[in-house]
Amino acid sequence: MNLPEKFGENVFNDTVQKEMLPKEVYKALRATIEAGKQLDVSIAGAVAAAMKDWAVSKGATHYTHWFQPLTGLTAEKHDSFIEPDGDKVIMRLTGNSLIVGEPDASSFPSGGSRATYMARGYTAWDPTSPAFVKDGTLYIPTIFVSYTGETLDKKGPLLRSMNAIDRQAKRVLKLFGIECKKVATTVGPEQEYFLIDEEEYLKRKDLQLTGRTLFGAPVSRGQELEDQYFGVLKPRVAAFMRDLDEELWSYGIPSKTKHNEVAPAQHEMAPIFSTTNIAVDNNMLTMEIMKKVAQKHGLVCLLHEKPFRGINGSGKHNNWSMSTDTGLNLLNPGVNPETNTLFKLMLAAVIKAVDDYQGPLRASVASAANDHRLGANEAPPAIISIYLGDQLGALVESIIKGEKYTASSDNKCGIGVPESPIFPKDATDRNRTSPFAFTGNKFEFRMLGSQANVSDANICLNTIVASTLELFADELEGAASIEQAANDLIARELKAHERIIFNLDGYGPEWEPEAARRGLLNNKNTADAVPVFYEKKNIDVFVEQGVYTEAEAIARADIRLENYTKIINIEALTMLEMAKRDVIPAVSDFIGDLCQNVASKQAVCGEIPFNAEKKLISSLSKLNDEASAAVDKLEADLAAIDKEQFRAASQSMAHIIIPDMEELRKYVDEMETLTSSDYWPYPNYFDLLYSVK
Ligand code: ADP
Ligand code: MG
Repeated sequence: MNLPEKFGENVFNDTVQKEMLPKEVYKALRATIEAGKQLDVSIAGAVAAAMKDWAVSKGATHYTHWFQPLTGLTAEKHDSFIEPDGDKVIMRLTGNSLIVGEPDASSFPSGGSRATYMARGYTAWDPTSPAFVKDGTLYIPTIFVSYTGETLDKKGPLLRSMNAIDRQAKRVLKLFGIECKKVATTVGPEQEYFLIDEEEYLKRKDLQLTGRTLFGAPVSRGQELEDQYFGVLKPRVAAFMRDLDEELWSYGIPSKTKHNEVAPAQHEMAPIFSTTNIAVDNNMLTMEIMKKVAQKHGLVCLLHEKPFRGINGSGKHNNWSMSTDTGLNLLNPGVNPETNTLFKLMLAAVIKAVDDYQGPLRASVASAANDHRLGANEAPPAIISIYLGDQLGALVESIIKGEKYTASSDNKCGIGVPESPIFPKDATDRNRTSPFAFTGNKFEFRMLGSQANVSDANICLNTIVASTLELFADELEGAASIEQAANDLIARELKAHERIIFNLDGYGPEWEPEAARRGLLNNKNTADAVPVFYEKKNIDVFVEQGVYTEAEAIARADIRLENYTKIINIEALTMLEMAKRDVIPAVSDFIGDLCQNVASKQAVCGEIPFNAEKKLISSLSKLNDEASAAVDKLEADLAAIDKEQFRAASQSMAHIIIPDMEELRKYVDEMETLTSSDYWPYPNYFDLLYSVK
């Protein structure tokens, strides 16, 4: 395979655009893409014609507007290119069909902000993310808005939030004499996932209906030997990854790194970072392609945050920075961060933003599935804090204390043998336990769930940083000496927000009480985390930056709680179904057979005082009774909840239903360890985690 040639072969990218578009059209399109200029709609016809010709040459017969409704997934509706021409047809894509589409919006979640009878919704072309051909269809990335102009998707607000950063960061740059056309945020999302055998998957209702195992006793060998991380790839997994890379590259997705993750059957793929909206589109496509390629290999790719209890779940580290179109990374400390005022100002802006808006940031990653990770011993805790590392930590400390900073001279690494190279060390070490870590020239926000659309977290991050930069620019514009004024501001803000910086072990038992003393938020589940989004200050920041209207902001929070409520409801119903129809009857059958055996044994040998069967009969009968009682309680509690009232219902789900589910699972998992595998109705954790060779 000629990789450079194959890379992006299914994408209507810059190279193809240059080749196929009239020069003036090409120039106008690039001005919109690169400098954020208002799209000149008069070029749409020419772009559409070229796109269609190119797509048809790739075997496409259809086109679709591709969008990201509030389900968190992607949506598409395909139209063929055909147009009648006498008794024949011609293939055509008009400028208008490229620019705007009208899917029926009534069946997508809108958070109650739009009555369903007002179902008109429009999709509008996002020229900044390139179109591509997949499975015989031309995919045109779009935003999704209602008749009244309300955004109904994740991309519209994401683009607005990127605009907000662009506006405010340029003001700050100007103060330092730096002119540029555009400041964009960049993202590199590292994607974790599990691969299991399809045959085993198809035997588990819970995996199929909820994406995770609702029951399952731990397997004797989990991840404690720590031998899976970066371990040798199994042949089937290696073959999957090879195919996956080829597919991703063909769509211009710069897949860079692949390796085994910590848990058995867990893996990771990291792409090279790109502009945020493209990174989001690519990540959505990546998740879809992962599932599709897995199927070809007789595997199932699980993107759920916590498919298995007792071993690590999956997240998506969101590496984030801001860069100018001229290639200046605003979070690059350079060789001498202590004298790099612009960098220190940007750093202070992020620190202040994250501290001021911990609530919305935490809420932006909250979901029923991600609740299993945050706060458990594998993902960062539910408390937001920032890790700066030794060098930057020392710099910030010296600023706060008003002391002189002396850079550490210990910046080389070697093992002390002449054959081995001495190499420069990174400015920061790794701290895997921090939810928000500075890693060299970017921040890594680690709380995101593996199946999340990363838009939500980035919309929030962009908005709060833009808002902070606005405050900074307001203050600094007109200062006599920008250096002096900026350094005063930096010192003041770092002092004010010192509490959010935490360079030690975020998993340690000391952190929770310490964070409470510092007054940091610690919302452990979605039902408790999301309501902060309704607070005035948190709505205002989105409204002021032009990212959400008040109604749009409230709709986003409502949908999150509604979705949470629905997911827990589905999980509870699935559990009930599995317990009532499969588990309890299976255990009863097993007990019945044990009783038969005891009766036969006694018929032959006479009365026996105690034996293995009797012991099992007694333990299992008791557990099955307890499981049955737990079923009754869960069923009754679930029936008592008015699921339409999702704000209240989400609280009941978190504080009544989830504990009920825990209780039921406890008995079922215990019974699994005592029941003959011939009787157990599902493949166990061993089958699920170790059957891919
Ligand atoms: P690490 O291994 O320290 O996490 P890597 O260099 O492997 O760092 O990068 C991890 C991810 O961060 C990759 O997706 C990478 O492309 C991305 N990344 C690197 N620089 C930036 C940046 N300026 N903005 C956003 N993401 C970045
Ligand atoms: Mg990383």
